Amino acid sequence: MFIAHQPAGYLLTRGIVGKRQRLRRAALATGLIFSVLPDLDLLYFCLIDGPRTLHHDFWTHTPLFWLATAAAFALALRLAGWRQYLDLVWVALANVLLHLFLDSIAADIRWLHPFSGARFNLVEIPARFQPWYLNFILHWAFAAELAICVAAAWVWVRAGCGGGGCFSKDVWVKQSGHGPGNASVQRHSAVRLIRRHSTRLRSLKGIGAVVLGAFSSQAWLAR
Ligand SMILES: [Zn+2]
Repeated sequence: MFIAHQPAGYLLTRGIVGKRQRLRRAALATGLIFSVLPDLDLLYFCLIDGPRTLHHDFWTHTPLFWLATAAAFALALRLAGWRQYLDLVWVALANVLLHLFLDSIAADIRWLHPFSGARFNLVEIPARFQPWYLNFILHWAFAAELAICVAAAWVWVRAGCGGGGCFSKDVWVKQSGHGPGNASVQRHSAVRLIRRHSTRLRSLKGIGAVVLGAFSSQAWLAR
């Protein structure tokens, strides 16, 4: 999977958190980080390994490693009396396992390592095109990635808009913190909302740049 790990993690974490406000921000931050954390092995893959080992064969892509690590953290938090942070451990574990599941769609993941070297994947992507990444982009699995990205963007925008849509007049007035007052108050409200939405747009551009950067680095690796 190329671009949908973090959007999928966002959707999963929002589903886990639901309407519960406790640790909401921390849970979202944890989910976004851990949804891509296994791919940190790309740094080792590029800078040190050189690249001799398959990127999905590192321990960072080993489900049993993460299960054991989460169990150890959960035990440590219980013994320390910090049970309030246990939810974050489960959010992190759920996101890592989601990452590995999504990787399993079109790549080999050793779900039972170190007890078995068996590799599991859902579909084989035939090597028909050059450069290699065109095989992935022109496969239906990439359409599924795009669908996840669109769904996450939709949920994110709706959540940011209070769940009522960005462009309804009522929501604009409600978000700006003003009631339906005189024209100058409403103008002021509109300016505040435009500023707020342009910040969001800049964030989207940032996310786009990160995705593009990640994709370019993968393409560079394949040279
Ligand atoms: Zn991965």
